[in-house]
Amino acid sequence: MQKSFKDPKPTLFVVSTPIGNLGDISYRAVEILSEVDVILAEDTRTSSVLLHHYQIKKQMMSYHEFNKDEKESQIIGLLNEGKNIALISDAGTPGINDPGYEIIKKVIESGFYVVSIPGASAILAAIVTSGLIIQPFTFLGFLPRKQAEMKKVLNDYINRKETLVIYESPLRVAKTLGILFSTLGQRNIALARELTKAFETIIRTTLSEAQEMEHNTKGEYVIIVEGNNNIEIHFDETITKHVERLVQSGLAEKEAMKQVAVDREIPKSEVYQAFKIDNKK
Ligand code: SAM
Repeated sequence: MQKSFKDPKPTLFVVSTPIGNLGDISYRAVEILSEVDVILAEDTRTSSVLLHHYQIKKQMMSYHEFNKDEKESQIIGLLNEGKNIALISDAGTPGINDPGYEIIKKVIESGFYVVSIPGASAILAAIVTSGLIIQPFTFLGFLPRKQAEMKKVLNDYINRKETLVIYESPLRVAKTLGILFSTLGQRNIALARELTKAFETIIRTTLSEAQEMEHNTKGEYVIIVEGNNNIEIHFDETITKHVERLVQSGLAEKEAMKQVAVDREIPKSEVYQAFKIDNKK
C-alpha cells in the first residue's frame, strides 16, 4: 500500500475509532493504522476487535490511565528510533474523556509531529441530533459524582446561554437528571443513548419530564441541555443593578460581572468600570 505519511519525521497519529458501529472509521484512519509501526491502545483486547475487522495486524502497546506515566519514556524512545505511532482509545476520539492528553503534550514538547486523524466522537454525534441550538456549546464531559460537587460545577452555568454536553454512565443518569433539574430549572434536553448502535435512542424532552421517566440502566448516554435562553435583560436597569440581580440569584460577584458583559454584549471592562464607580458613591 502507498505510504500515507507526508513526511518522514516520526509522528504520533491521534486516530479516532468508532463509538459503536464498526463502519464509522475513515479510510485514512484504516490506512494509517495499517502503516504505523506501533498502535497505542487503551485496551488492546477491545481494539483487537476493530483491527481484526479491518485485517490490520500490528504491534499493540497498552496505554491507559494507570500506566501512562511509565509508558511515556518508552513512547518517546520509539519516536527517537524513527518509529511512527498511532494512538487509539476504546471508542471515539483519544483525549476526549479518554487517555491521550499527556502523551500528546509530551510528544509535542519533544519536537515530534502530532497529527489528528479525525472521526467519531459522541459529543458531535449527540449534539447534531439533539435539535437544540448547536453554537455555542460547552462540553462538560463527566460531571463530578458527588451531588455537592456536581451542583458547584453546574452553578456556573445557571445563567449561561450555551448548550451543555454531558457524558454520563447509565447507572447514574437518573440521579444526574434530577440534580440538573434542581440546579438549572426547567430546560429542553436531549438524551442520546447508544449512538450508532442497534438500540440507538434519542429522547427529546424537558428536564422535569426526564427526571420522572424510567431510564434504561444499560448502554452509553450523552445528555444535551439547552442553555438559559430566558436571560432577562431589563434595559431600563443600570449595569450595577443588573450585576446585583445576578448576585442575588446566586452568582459570585465576579461571575455576575462576566455574565452581564455577555448578556449586554459589551466588554467586561465596561461592566467592571460601571460597577466600581457606582460602588464608590
Ligand atoms: N472518546 C470518546 C468520544 O470521543 O466520545 C468518549 C469516551 S468516554 C470514556 C465514554 C462516554 O462517552 C460514555 O460514558 C458516554 O457518555 C459517551 N459515549 C461514547 N459512546 C457513546 C455512544 N455510542 N452513545 C452515547 N454515548 C456514548
